[in-house]
Amino acid sequence: MDERRIADRFAGFDQDGNGYIDREDFYVAAKALLAEFSTTARCDKGQALFAGAEAFWQGMAGIADVDGDQRVTRGEFVTGAVKRLRDSPERFAEIARPFLRGALAVAGADDAGIGAPEARRVLKALGVEDGLAGTAVDALDADGDGRISEEEVVQGFARYFTVPE
Ligand code: CA
Ligand code: CA
Repeated sequence: MDERRIADRFAGFDQDGNGYIDREDFYVAAKALLAEFSTTARCDKGQALFAGAEAFWQGMAGIADVDGDQRVTRGEFVTGAVKRLRDSPERFAEIARPFLRGALAVAGADDAGIGAPEARRVLKALGVEDGLAGTAVDALDADGDGRISEEEVVQGFARYFTVPE
């Protein structure tokens, strides 16, 4: 993975843009999703999303926070996370699963997942620019049934870190 793509991935996690990834970034992402779909933090879906955000952060910290200061710097991300993600994208995707499941639930998922418009709103709430979000949603719907399922999101997330654009 080249420098620019690593910088892109890092920026995606650094939701508040302060130059490192920490727990707050995952909470910022959860709050943005709740706001986008007018969902309260106190309801079951809100609580599940925050629990998923916490699990995602703990997983990320376990992989990449080498010095244990509760912050993942760009250097830690590059040397720790990216290498391990490349070696074991499935494991990384499992770390993200509770958060991704929570996000789908907030976006109104049924058993088959969410529709493309909702998926675009999810990505936009997470800071993905509009043009890119449309392309990403098309790519996520791997079986082409017009719904984005939990499995497709988890797999897409793993691909994002391992497959060149
Ligand atoms: Ca940050
Ligand atoms: Ca650190």
